[in-house]
Amino acid sequence: MNGTIVKGIGGFYYVDTGDAVYECRARGLFRLEQNTPLVGDFVEFLPEEGKLKGYITAIGERRSRMLRPQVANVDQFALVVAASAPRPGPLLCDKLLLQAALAKVAALIVINKCDEASKAFLDAFSAEYASSGAKMLFVSARTGFGLDQLAAALKGRITCFAGQSAVGKSSLINALAPGVSLKVGGLSKKTDRGRHTTRHAELLRVAGGYVVDTPGFSLLELLPMDPAELCQYYPEMKDFLGQCRFPDCQHRAEPDCAVKEAVEKGLIPEGRYGRYLQLWAELKELERKKYD
Ligand code: GDP
Ligand code: ZN
Repeated sequence: MNGTIVKGIGGFYYVDTGDAVYECRARGLFRLEQNTPLVGDFVEFLPEEGKLKGYITAIGERRSRMLRPQVANVDQFALVVAASAPRPGPLLCDKLLLQAALAKVAALIVINKCDEASKAFLDAFSAEYASSGAKMLFVSARTGFGLDQLAAALKGRITCFAGQSAVGKSSLINALAPGVSLKVGGLSKKTDRGRHTTRHAELLRVAGGYVVDTPGFSLLELLPMDPAELCQYYPEMKDFLGQCRFPDCQHRAEPDCAVKEAVEKGLIPEGRYGRYLQLWAELKELERKKYD
């Protein structure tokens, strides 16, 4: 039989076939080969007769491997923001987009609480991220608006959910998967790092796909990287890179910078560029600390 590992605890792997979850052990072989199964792995297993138990016999090829939390085969990162309160910190969106680009997975921005949103906010937000490469979904867990599209985006994929607390992550998951039943106003407690070790990620079956239940704040932590490479992760800058006067232009205060000119002409959203400068400075600071 085949299934996806949704949880791993103390040598047991819980394999979801879509119809049932089997408690499986991995053969000793895997441990010798240093190839231990991970949550998210698609595996082959031998069920014990008449029981929801079995032995994993093979691990399918991994498309990707995320380290924090440890999950295989993540297809996309989804950032949930609220269109009303709490107000989205746009820097979080940009950080999530950057992490998705670094991990080579798709990025999804889920704008929840659209029932309370002003048109001005939605227009401004859409304009800001229209050329960012992220897919945007406007939804309301309260009214059900847009949930069909969200379900379609999750179907058949493994999605890591991130977002500030109280944006409505639990409400959305409950609305799409009533069986999962997360406490509204409660999921945020798990983001407390002391309580929830990121190593024990669990996949929740939601809308024909899986959602990683760790809110994934590690996705929003900036990892050290060369600030000079940052611009490569901005799809909206792509057309202008290589057109600056200096080949090593980092698009800050250099003269004849094609990126800055594009911002002035309104071809690159000003906010995205402003936060590029902020992230650049943060990365520079991380680099500086490393060599202190
Ligand atoms: P989480 O911390 O991200 O899991 O957020 P919760 O799901 O616990 O929701 C936080 C609060 O926002 C709760 O009071 C919800 O009732 C409310 N909420 C969630 N979704 C919506 C929505 O679509 N519209 C409105 N108006 N409120 C919502
Ligand atoms: Zn430049």
